[in-house]
Amino acid sequence: MRSVDDLISEGVSGRRVFLRADLNVPLDKLSGTITDDGRIRASLPTLQALRDAGARVVVAAHLGRPKGAPDPQFSLAPVAARLSELLMTPVPLAADVAGDDARAKADALGDGDVLLLENVRFEAAETSKDDAERGELADRFAALADVYVDDAFGAVHRKHASVFDVAQRLPHVAGRLVARELEVLTRLTSDPERPYVVVLGGSKVSDKLAVIEALLPKVDRLLVGGGMCFTFLAAQGHGVGSSLLEADQVDTCRRLLAAAGDRIVLPVDVVAATAFSADAEVSVVPVTEIPDDLMGLDVGPRTVEIFGTELGAARTVFWNGPMGVFELAPFQAGTRGVAQAVAAVDGLSVVGGGDSAAAVRQLGLDEDAYGHISTGGGASLEYLEGRELPGLAVLTD
Ligand code: ADP
Ligand code: MG
Repeated sequence: MRSVDDLISEGVSGRRVFLRADLNVPLDKLSGTITDDGRIRASLPTLQALRDAGARVVVAAHLGRPKGAPDPQFSLAPVAARLSELLMTPVPLAADVAGDDARAKADALGDGDVLLLENVRFEAAETSKDDAERGELADRFAALADVYVDDAFGAVHRKHASVFDVAQRLPHVAGRLVARELEVLTRLTSDPERPYVVVLGGSKVSDKLAVIEALLPKVDRLLVGGGMCFTFLAAQGHGVGSSLLEADQVDTCRRLLAAAGDRIVLPVDVVAATAFSADAEVSVVPVTEIPDDLMGLDVGPRTVEIFGTELGAARTVFWNGPMGVFELAPFQAGTRGVAQAVAAVDGLSVVGGGDSAAAVRQLGLDEDAYGHISTGGGASLEYLEGRELPGLAVLTD
């Protein structure tokens, strides 16, 4: 796989580069302002290197899940504004994805200039299952540039026009972010230093069963917290009150627990409340005694201690998914405790997942204390599952 640095050393001055970036930042629902610009900042090294080399950069990205048509709520306008502050240069936003305005603005770029296309998911073809539909959009993307750089690690597991099809139409290389993600994920999959401990949390167990299955034979310990732990606790026969529960996954969890022996470690206590609310009354209860009318919204202090001990002994750690509803103050302690223990690991520590990375920043933890913070949740999980990722496969040929 060739990298953007190979491209730069060949000379890219005056050439138009189609850069697929991951700028899918969370927005405040009411004000529309960016609540965490981590992904924008993570995209700067590749972008700045291309500008410094005199490339004319056409940036493509998606934001949220618009329904295949323009929708002002999902416009990249706030992202263009933030990007131009961070780059300290104007970043115009095309009025369309790959239409007349995009073409006119791409033609007008000077060396080192940057243009942002409007949200690629405003075109239904971007995510279409139909190769010809995606192909037609990819043709229009390819007409905007001479070379393709993929730096959108968070989207490499998608067979989308701006990720997959356009790469087949232009000379293609991996951006620095994609190259770095691959380097780290390779270290996790090929002979990790032991003990290798994985911490999984987040809300949906069904999203993460495949990765649990794939990781179980490879890890020394799998610590499970977050909303997904309740399906496992139910599989052990505990009542989980009104906590998040995926009843149809209980059998699978039971089978995984039986196969894992003592490698899967579940919480022993949880922070429970009567409602999903910052001012609900909270109590700490053992998992064996969760009252019927309470829901578990964080792991408890004893669990944080146990997870901390496992993490303290680890030499390689991958953490995906918050331990609780960290967005609400009363349910932050579990995520904070685990985040601190992961940061203190003597070895390689990797954080994957949009919400997990956001939690690290929101809780004011030092990002530099981690070996790597992955911007791509789904993509890193699929990579760890051992699946082929279309956006990476297309860069290798
Ligand atoms: P990531 O983006 O890091 O992969 P997920 O998207 O899987 O993480 O999960 C994040 C969400 O899980 C957060 O919004 C958090 O509030 C939620 N969550 C964590 N613990 C619980 C819980 N006990 N009950 C309900 N939701 C939870
Ligand atoms: Mg998430």
